[in-house]
Amino acid sequence: MVRTDPLSFLSEQIESWKKAGTYQTLRQLQTACQPVCRVDGKEVINLASNNYLGLAGHPKLIEAAVEAARKYGAGSAAVRTIAGTMSIHLELDRRIAAFKQVEACVVFQSGFAANAGTVAAILTPEDHIVSDELNHASIIDGCRLSKAKIHVFPHKDVAAADRILGELDGKSGRKLLITDGVFSMDGDIAPLPALVEVAERHGAIMMVDDAHASGVLGRNGRGTVDHFGLHGRVDIQVGTLSKAIGVLGGYVCGSRSLIDFLYHRARPFLFSTSHPPAVAASCLAAFDILESEPERIENLWNNTRYFKSALAAAGFSTGESETPITPIMVGEARTAHAFSNALFEQGVFATGIGYPTVPQGKARIRTIVTAAHTREQLDRAVEILTRVARKMNILAS
Ligand SMILES: *Cc1c(COP(=O)(O)O)cnc(C)c1O
Repeated sequence: MVRTDPLSFLSEQIESWKKAGTYQTLRQLQTACQPVCRVDGKEVINLASNNYLGLAGHPKLIEAAVEAARKYGAGSAAVRTIAGTMSIHLELDRRIAAFKQVEACVVFQSGFAANAGTVAAILTPEDHIVSDELNHASIIDGCRLSKAKIHVFPHKDVAAADRILGELDGKSGRKLLITDGVFSMDGDIAPLPALVEVAERHGAIMMVDDAHASGVLGRNGRGTVDHFGLHGRVDIQVGTLSKAIGVLGGYVCGSRSLIDFLYHRARPFLFSTSHPPAVAASCLAAFDILESEPERIENLWNNTRYFKSALAAAGFSTGESETPITPIMVGEARTAHAFSNALFEQGVFATGIGYPTVPQGKARIRTIVTAAHTREQLDRAVEILTRVARKMNILAS
């Protein structure tokens, strides 16, 4: 019997992406993640990573990983609720809670797991979620998994969030107001003080996802709550250990009862194995460095200001960015991918991002400078960006 391939629709879809110029292959890093790396056999200036503070390659993090692997083994071999909670996991939970000045913290396998697992655990189909339209995919998936009613408000539109919550006043069900702290594709900062007021006024739970604010904003990188002085007024803070912290993981900070509840109901915590001990050890070393080497964060912001003003002087449109995430807007997804490929050929690694990651017509390349880039590297990157953009008519020549 001739069997037709039941997955043939996948290759048809892929063909259509190839025609649209949005099909992508995976770039291969052949060195550690550094300001200049070898990627697909080429030396390139790396503006594509989330290694904000250069911690992914810090000798103290590497040393801590090696030592923990020798002492505790390569893997934890169980989920945390069974036999996968090692003393080093609890040490990291406590360390982050102290750093963030909250009662308790629990680390998940990733920021994605932390967001999706938490939102899905605490809400039910009777409840309501009020969510910024540009919130991260892991928040959106958590909302969907919870089966709560989802109300999306226009990006950073506090009045709209207020109006939606107002309409829910007096109705049954719990309410959650949720936002990214720093938006991952645009680099702008949430209007957290105003959102917190709105949540308080309507008795809603306030939750912020600080994936791109952890290690970047606030004293020693404590995030947006610290940046805005909102301690005690945000019920749930999510952060990531995968970006500025340089390793892997996500965490949830809040009250002791929130964390105890998650121990019992957050599905990634219950059903997926805990981090290898080396991961927890490297993260602990990273928090030491956040507290002992604050100049890394200062360098990050100095480089950010320097790079942004050079881009502006060259005539690039960088959207609404207020953080080291600096998009360079080009419009169509096809152009973004072509620009990214041409930059790569000239020695700059910056990813093209189009629909569905960002809305149609708002394609861009996304750049992120780090504390570890030198001024020479940034100058050279701007020179290449400008030259390639002129050639492609992204900038007037
Ligand atoms: C990257 C990101 C996450 C996911 O974090 P991981 O640790 O990489 O899973 C969650 N939220 C936002 C806003 C992010 O940018």
